[in-house]
Amino acid sequence: MDMQSYYLGVAYVLAAVFGLCVGSFLNVVIYRVPAGLSLATPSSHCPKCKYVLRWYDNIPVVSYLILGGKCRSCRAPISFRYTAVEIANMLLWIVSALLFWQQSIVYAVICALASSVFICVFFIDLEHKLVFDRFVLMLVGLGIAAAVFDPCYSALSHIIGGVGGFTAFYLIAWLFERIRHKDGLGGGDIKLTGACGLLLGWQRLLLSVLCAAVVASVVLVILSRREGKEDTEYPFAPFLTCGFALAMFFGHRIISAYISLLGI
Ligand SMILES: [Zn+2]
Repeated sequence: MDMQSYYLGVAYVLAAVFGLCVGSFLNVVIYRVPAGLSLATPSSHCPKCKYVLRWYDNIPVVSYLILGGKCRSCRAPISFRYTAVEIANMLLWIVSALLFWQQSIVYAVICALASSVFICVFFIDLEHKLVFDRFVLMLVGLGIAAAVFDPCYSALSHIIGGVGGFTAFYLIAWLFERIRHKDGLGGGDIKLTGACGLLLGWQRLLLSVLCAAVVASVVLVILSRREGKEDTEYPFAPFLTCGFALAMFFGHRIISAYISLLGI
C-alpha cells in the first residue's frame, strides 16, 4: 500500500469516528435548542427518571445496542432517533471525505459541517415546524467559505445562488400569500434557501429545489389524502435539506451528465 492510499484510509476512518461523536452532540442540539435549554448543562439524563448518563451510557450506537434501547435505570425505551442521527451524521461525513477529500480538504470539511447542520434543521423542523436563525447563520458562514474553496463552481455562481434563491423564494411566498391569502412558505424556508444558494451555487440550488419540490408534492398529496384535511401545515425544510444534501454531494456530477446528454 502506498502512502497516498494510507493517508486516505486514515482520513476516512477519522471521518467515521468524528462523524459518530459529532452526531451524538447533534442529538443534544436537536433536543435542547427548540426547548431553549443550554447546550452545556445539565448533563445528559433520562427524561423519565432523571438518571444522569455515565460516559459508558453515552458511546454512540454501542451504548444503544448494549442497553437494548432502554434506560439503564428505569428501562424506559430510548427513541431510535438518537442512534439514527449518529449513523446518518457518520455516513454523511464519510461521503464528504470520499467525494471531496482528494480535491480539497477544506471543501470536504465544509460539506461535512453543512450536512450536520442539515440534520439538525431536518429533525427540528419535522417536529416543531421551525427553522432557527442560528442554523441559517451557520450555513451562511459555510456558504462564504464554499464560495472560496468549491472546486466545482465559481464564487460568482455561489453569490448568484444566494441572492437568487432568497429573492425567488421571497417572491413565491409573496405571490402565494396574495393569491391564496395564507402562508405557503415560512420565513425560515426563505432564509434557509438563500443561505443554501450561497453554499451550493445557483446550478446546484436549482437541482435541489426541483428535487425537494417533486418529492414534497408526492409525499404531501399522499399524506393529505390519508388525513383528509387540506389545511394542515406541513414542514417543508425536511424536503429542502434532503435536496440540498443530494445536490451538495452529487449535483456537479448530475448536472455535468445532464449537460453532456444534451450535447451542449
Ligand atoms: Zn430512566
